[in-house]
Amino acid sequence: MSASKAVNFPIERTQHSRLSETDFSNLEFGTVNSDHMFVVDYKKGEWVDPKIIPFQNISVSPACSSLHYGQTVFEGMKAFRAPNGDLLVFRPEKHLERMNNSNRRLCIPEIPAEYFYDAIDALVKLDQDWIPNQEGCSLYLRPFIFANDPFIGVKPSSAYKFMIFTCPVAGYYKGTVKVIIESDFVRASPGGIGAAKTGGNYAASLLPAKLAADKGYQQILWTDSKEHKYFEESGTMNLMFVINDVLITPSLDGSILPGITRDTILTIAKDWGVKVEERRVSVEEVITAFNNGTLQDAFGTGTAATITQIAEIHHNGKDMVLPPVAGRTLSNKLNQTIVDLKNGIGEDKYNWVHRIKK
Ligand SMILES: *Cc1c(COP(=O)(O)O)cnc(C)c1O
Repeated sequence: MSASKAVNFPIERTQHSRLSETDFSNLEFGTVNSDHMFVVDYKKGEWVDPKIIPFQNISVSPACSSLHYGQTVFEGMKAFRAPNGDLLVFRPEKHLERMNNSNRRLCIPEIPAEYFYDAIDALVKLDQDWIPNQEGCSLYLRPFIFANDPFIGVKPSSAYKFMIFTCPVAGYYKGTVKVIIESDFVRASPGGIGAAKTGGNYAASLLPAKLAADKGYQQILWTDSKEHKYFEESGTMNLMFVINDVLITPSLDGSILPGITRDTILTIAKDWGVKVEERRVSVEEVITAFNNGTLQDAFGTGTAATITQIAEIHHNGKDMVLPPVAGRTLSNKLNQTIVDLKNGIGEDKYNWVHRIKK
């Protein structure tokens, strides 16, 4: 983060902080916003009027092109308070890199590093009292950009709004999930937008996720769009298996979102001497491993929960019940190591933790 030049933007502080009226013991993900937000407009090829202002509604034209055609990209990351009071953000450069990769795919201008970094630092500093004190809590950061032309012709917009708001979030409930292998619907296909963090992928997943939930499954294991033979992701998380002590995850083939938690886990596991394979993983291989007792673990990975272990996988009328979570040494240890690292505990060997200057 050193290469970017600092930008100055005005900060308008709220006169009516909602902090004292917020119940931090009952935080539901994404329902409470902290006091401030960052906003910068893109018009006629230039970034104009960057500022931090009180969190508030914005007004757009009913013809706002992103409302109609979905030209929009978002990110999700977290800020933490270390035991010594330092404010930490985990791997912000990876999030900016991914955001700009998504932007290129959606014909959205790339976000200058200085806006991204300076806005995050300023916002987290300003709203640091919104980071709850309970263990596992953090401030979720939601950067996003959307096409803002007041015009419903189909073409890349000429105006955009880039914003960041933040939400205090509780320690994510560390329960397991029951999942179902999807063999009708698809999340993304080769050549599509599956590798971009964009709203359309989420919109496409809502109906299949609802149908799965109606049957009692909290997540879908997405399979490839051509044959439904190979695993892709788990809900809105990346997917990993442990078979015969080997950590296996689908390779990034263009339809899978390149998760930063995924990358973090693969890096640490390799460093620990765990055998890691990034390749195609077939449904058949996992069923065979389950049947012969070598399927030791399956879990989803993502910023919200770090690791979510899978208790049962449903396929064609059968439930595969996986080993008890207590015995899943690798995923338990990975989860603890990463949660500690994000909270400033343990050696930051890879320089992943950004410390906000006081
Ligand atoms: C954001 C996201 C992930 C996880 O990425 P992280 O960087 O680990 O949070 C995985 N899959 C999809 C579809 C996502 O949108």
